[in-house]
Amino acid sequence: MIRLSKSRYTRGVSCPKALWLDLYKPEAAEAVTDPRLAEQGTEVGRLAQELYGPHVTVEYSPDHARMPEDTEKYLARGEKVICEASFAKDGCFCSADVLQNLGNGHVIMTEVKSSTAIDPMYLHDCSFQTYVIESCGCTVDRILLAHINSGYVRKGKIDIQQLFLQEDITEKVRELLPGVPDRIRSLREELEKGEPGTAIGPDCPACAYWGYCSKNLPHPNVFDLTGAECNKNKKWKLYLEGAVSFPQLAERNDLKERQRLTVTGVEKTDAQAVRDFLKTIPLPTYHLDFESSQEAVPPYEDSRPYQQIPFQYSLHIVRKEGEEPEHKEFLAEDANADPRRALAESLCRDIPADACVAAYNMAFEKTRIKELADLFPDLAEHLLAIRDNIRDLMVPFQKLYCYRPAMQGSYSIKHVLPALCPDDPELDYRALEDVHNGTEATSAFLSMRKQTGEELAKTRKNLLRYCRLDTLAMVRVWEKLKEMAEG
Ligand code: SF4
Repeated sequence: MIRLSKSRYTRGVSCPKALWLDLYKPEAAEAVTDPRLAEQGTEVGRLAQELYGPHVTVEYSPDHARMPEDTEKYLARGEKVICEASFAKDGCFCSADVLQNLGNGHVIMTEVKSSTAIDPMYLHDCSFQTYVIESCGCTVDRILLAHINSGYVRKGKIDIQQLFLQEDITEKVRELLPGVPDRIRSLREELEKGEPGTAIGPDCPACAYWGYCSKNLPHPNVFDLTGAECNKNKKWKLYLEGAVSFPQLAERNDLKERQRLTVTGVEKTDAQAVRDFLKTIPLPTYHLDFESSQEAVPPYEDSRPYQQIPFQYSLHIVRKEGEEPEHKEFLAEDANADPRRALAESLCRDIPADACVAAYNMAFEKTRIKELADLFPDLAEHLLAIRDNIRDLMVPFQKLYCYRPAMQGSYSIKHVLPALCPDDPELDYRALEDVHNGTEATSAFLSMRKQTGEELAKTRKNLLRYCRLDTLAMVRVWEKLKEMAEG
């Protein structure tokens, strides 16, 4: 009999095939989970254990063997709050994040999540736990979901009562409860028969097993299309109508220009539009890119959960056409301290208030600068002038003044750059060490908190090289646009 935990149960409810692959073919998964998510979940869970005062915690054991016994002991001796309270019945096991013991077998269960909203799958998660706990003889009087309050602003020490929103989901969970035994039974039956034949659906492309489950589709296919005009519902509709391969899609007359260029592999250059765009970016131009971190538990004074905190920037300054750009950069000295004041001051030193600034996908840089201006009123005038002077280098690709088949329908700089500057070793992100993208940059910055000496110096060097490449890439893209305009 397949043992079910709450995570296996919810996985199976969302897709039985995904659970089967987790159990028997995990090597088929492509994406690697961001380790920061697990770390943040652990930190959030640890903080939530304080929500209801003094508590005991059931010690983890890899085979779970002792955990239900220890829980029983704690309940029997009248412990009021038990964290990781564990129950097992008929091959089903759960550890409730926090259990308040009301006595006489009555409990309140709290499930802790590091998200800022309730996902419907959390209700399935809690229904499974409630089923297991009640199968063991307890009565769950109330079921609470403690999740992160996105409106919380840190002032001094973390206030956990403000950091968490506790929502009573008892009724919603009770609605699902009668169906749990059948779901468990049918899930086990399905998994025991071998690999489920679950058909792909519109949400599948986000799954780690997408490559495995879509191996029989022609490649490239409709799910490789990008662009805001072609969302998952549109792709799914095309798929169901038999427009799967690019040749099949090329026969459709309801595709937008980006998708049509993508499926036909045709390149496009509108030199006049590129010329007009470049007129909006006078020299000298300051090519700017930020790196930022995001944490569930706000790490600094006046920061919110999941707020993007800029900790680094790179700046390439092009003063004259044909000249190599000047480079400036900032990286927070101490990852444990709030980097924003030093970054804002450095930005004001490096970029004159009347300079033309270029960013790629400027909404991100503009928003970060506005947040800095709100936080530091004495720098606000200069910061807001920088923000207002930003031009978006993404526009020619987003508006299709320029398209190359190698962009694969995307206008992200990670696709635009190799399409315009193929095989340039200076611009090869794969040649970088450890930090190759924004996610890795955030992880590297957060890891600096525990590093010293050579290890810290190496991380700093990798971060600086990565961010420098981002703005150098922007300069090279701008040079290519110049060539297009002139050609
Ligand atoms: S790709 Fe779709 S069908 Fe395959 S495991 Fe993932 S969710 Fe299930």
